[in-house]
Amino acid sequence: MSKDYTTLWKEIGLNLGKHDGLLSVLSDAYKNIYLSQKNRPEGMKYFDFVISEVHGLRIEELYEAKKEKRKVIGTFCVYVPEELVLAVDGVFVGLCAGAEVGFEEAEKYVPRNTCALIKAFMGFKLSGLCPYVELTDLIVGETTCDGKKKAYEIFDEITRKMYVMEIPNMKNDSDRKLWLEEVRKFKDKIEEISGKEITLNLLKKATEIVNQKRLALQRLSKLRAYDPSPISGLDALLVNQIAFYDDPVRFTMKVNELCDELEERVRKGNGIAPKGTPRILISGSPFAIPNWKLHAIVENSGAVVVGEESCVGSRNFRELTDENFNSLEEGLEKIAMRYMGIDCACFTPNKERIDNVKSLFKELKADGVIHCALQFCTPYMMEAFKIEKKIDFPYMRIETDYSMEDFGQLKTRVEAFIETLR
Ligand code: SF4
Ligand code: SF4
Repeated sequence: MSKDYTTLWKEIGLNLGKHDGLLSVLSDAYKNIYLSQKNRPEGMKYFDFVISEVHGLRIEELYEAKKEKRKVIGTFCVYVPEELVLAVDGVFVGLCAGAEVGFEEAEKYVPRNTCALIKAFMGFKLSGLCPYVELTDLIVGETTCDGKKKAYEIFDEITRKMYVMEIPNMKNDSDRKLWLEEVRKFKDKIEEISGKEITLNLLKKATEIVNQKRLALQRLSKLRAYDPSPISGLDALLVNQIAFYDDPVRFTMKVNELCDELEERVRKGNGIAPKGTPRILISGSPFAIPNWKLHAIVENSGAVVVGEESCVGSRNFRELTDENFNSLEEGLEKIAMRYMGIDCACFTPNKERIDNVKSLFKELKADGVIHCALQFCTPYMMEAFKIEKKIDFPYMRIETDYSMEDFGQLKTRVEAFIETLR
């Protein structure tokens, strides 16, 4: 980190002793997993910098934003419309956590057999380790899975900042109406806490900013379709993770700069691994930062990850919001419609997801799919079986969590799978 942020962390209320420990573990993991990669694009330097400052400069920026009376809104799901937060000049940050931290604390509130993502976001807060949670003015949850729904009730008792949006589980007309109503209510809530009114122009501008971010991520995704791939799956995953933390305009610019460089690499045939290296599409539960485990295993086993059918991945950027609206109400409808297209496993039925896995597999010229569900994540664990039955390409499913206990066992299984693709 470029400077000493101790005073800021103290002011926010972090547990300084534990926080120092966390940063040193993270920095070691980052060096081992990321900085040890060969032939990385120059453009990754910006993203390395963001990670090195993820609890530093970015936190200072949020702190400054709050002093300017801008509101910081934390979320856990790609279903929460970012456009509405940006329309009131708010800061939108993802709060999911991808490390086994504070689980003992979390298990005082939720059962042991709760998915790692839920235990991590609770554990980070309960251990005083998440500056983002501390800086939020509002934390937006959603009724996607039962685990989250119930955890948010507890999280509200702890933080007193929760606001929950009801996500329907089906996509019929009545569900669409319910969701549109939820989007309208969310707009009211955002206006209330920010003290600002969302106008047609503000909503248009915000929609454009979010769409530009999605377009940049789409561009990155398309570049991964080349063989040899110009970027590692680990690096692309990092960019997709940072999409939830960074300032959207700056982030878009940096992703586009990276893509310019990757296009040049493609022209020169400069890949991250030799042409013909087995190509893996990873599908399933989201990979919250710093969950790099599976990508590291795959890429250290002689394959390259070319895409993520995940919310930290294609589900976050696949659809744009239609910017062609002429009234605020029409804008809200377009936004609601765009988010309704997300194919989270919480929906029933969810045929779109199978179609999306198939088309992504083809687009990215993948050789095999690894379906990864977090342990105890019933929706994705269940869909893993369903997808296996409906596809005809090489497929393996795994269930794992954030611990390193199964690292060796997973590596053996992944290596065997990759061997079958050669
Ligand atoms: S997997 Fe479902 S619940 Fe999780 S972030 Fe994605 S849409 Fe939201
Ligand atoms: S990973 Fe699965 S169980 Fe965990 S919060 Fe997401 S949908 Fe729910």
